[in-house]
Amino acid sequence: MTVLVTGGAGFLGHHLVKLLLEEGKEVVVFDNLWTGSAKNVRHFEQHLGFTFVHCDIRERLPDVGHVEQIYHLACPASPDRFEESPVEILETCFQGTKNIFDLGVKCGARVLIASTSETYGDPLTSPQSEQYRGNVNCFGPRSCYDEGKRIAESLAYAYHHKHGLQVRVARIFNAYGPHMQLHDGRAVPNFISSAMEGHSIVVYGDGNSTRCFQYALDCVEGLHRLMNSDHDLPVNIGSDVEMPIGLIADMVARVVAEKMGHADCVDVTFLPQREDDPTQRQPDIGLAKRVLGWAPKIELEEGLDRTVNWFLAEKVVASGSRRA
Ligand code: NAD
Ligand code: UDP
Repeated sequence: MTVLVTGGAGFLGHHLVKLLLEEGKEVVVFDNLWTGSAKNVRHFEQHLGFTFVHCDIRERLPDVGHVEQIYHLACPASPDRFEESPVEILETCFQGTKNIFDLGVKCGARVLIASTSETYGDPLTSPQSEQYRGNVNCFGPRSCYDEGKRIAESLAYAYHHKHGLQVRVARIFNAYGPHMQLHDGRAVPNFISSAMEGHSIVVYGDGNSTRCFQYALDCVEGLHRLMNSDHDLPVNIGSDVEMPIGLIADMVARVVAEKMGHADCVDVTFLPQREDDPTQRQPDIGLAKRVLGWAPKIELEEGLDRTVNWFLAEKVVASGSRRA
């Protein structure tokens, strides 16, 4: 079976491609390396079943022959990008997704889209089940992403009704792990890079905003189960263990200090909350448990430990190659 992964050189794309290759699938990746990296796919290139195609999904797509499944992940996910490139993100969510659905129709492929908890905006109810319609500001600084992903979901069901396209919609909640870019801009890599570089960790707001962080391997296992299930309505994929961001900053500071052999942790600086930054987020994952038999397994302490180890190893490699 040939599987296309858009955004396969990104953070989640890396873990998904690895899982699919280990399962014996032929994998084609479409990626323009906007927020991903060639490094994330380099070690797949010796695999006979792997093909990397450098392309922008907003443009006319290259011919890749027949594919049976498409995991559509291509889209920047870090809030830092929302203010930098809102029009390009909207184009990616609409025109890019439309191009991928047209390819799905042509091949008769099933398409899974990586949607997001951001479709719920700054939620007024908690936990958020798939029935919740959200509280999204359609012209705020995050709207290119929130509304972009909402239109991608709408397009998925329009293609299903009009063309019979088989669609799967995963609403992913905050994921973290190895293979994020150190300066990606999201909380976990930001906290790790500050702690590694000995700068204070910046927390926006008073530290009491909450998120539920899932480890990358759990997340891609959830995507894989959803793709191969019969369930064609949106499903939340996330951890339901809710934590204040300030506490996560403290945990990261402690883990990095321990591993680097420092007696003291870096401190935490509080800056004003960012506009439209959700204050509370927690998925109801009852549906994923019922229809996919899936729930995350890796606890935050374990996941952060593995992630910090990976970033520290990357730092050693990078400083070695600078010396060489
Ligand atoms: P990422 O930024 O690491 O990966 C995205 C990849 O898509 C990158 O390799 C990037 O170069 C590529 N890309 C972006 N726009 C493209 C375009 N126009 N053409 C071709 N390639 C393009 O992000 P990620 O964390 O791996 O997220 C993957 C997907 O999952 C995204 O769609 C994101 O919205 C969704 N998601 C992720 C999370 C999370 O916590 N990681 C949460 C919710 C949803
Ligand atoms: N955050 C923070 N400092 C940072 C990066 C993020 O305090 O350096 C906060 C951010 O404002 C949000 C939470 O951490 O409240 C999660 O941010 P992230 O960008 O990881 O994901 P989001 O859930 O906002 O998409």
